[in-house]
Amino acid sequence: MLRLPVCPKCGHSCSWKEAFKMTFIGSHAFCPSCKSEIYTTWATIIVNAILGSALPLLIMFGMSGAGQPLGRIIWFAGVYFTVYLLLTPYLSTYKPDK
Ligand SMILES: [Zn+2]
Repeated sequence: MLRLPVCPKCGHSCSWKEAFKMTFIGSHAFCPSCKSEIYTTWATIIVNAILGSALPLLIMFGMSGAGQPLGRIIWFAGVYFTVYLLLTPYLSTYKPDK
């Protein structure tokens, strides 16, 4: 189930664009509606660490180990990170405090 983040303070449902911007601010963000400072949950940080670095690196190492040509590995990385960036806003959840 993919859901865009909701502000824990005012219940504002973020649009994809708002959520995308919030994701790249870091461990906290500002609600576009009520301007409250809100914090990313641990689940968000862990999921992003796995999907944003550990998993693609593992797959790329696996591909190079299996003798796949470099061009194919770069192609895979390009497609993977495009999909990941499109999905990023759906992976984030926020809580009201640290
Ligand atoms: Zn809010």
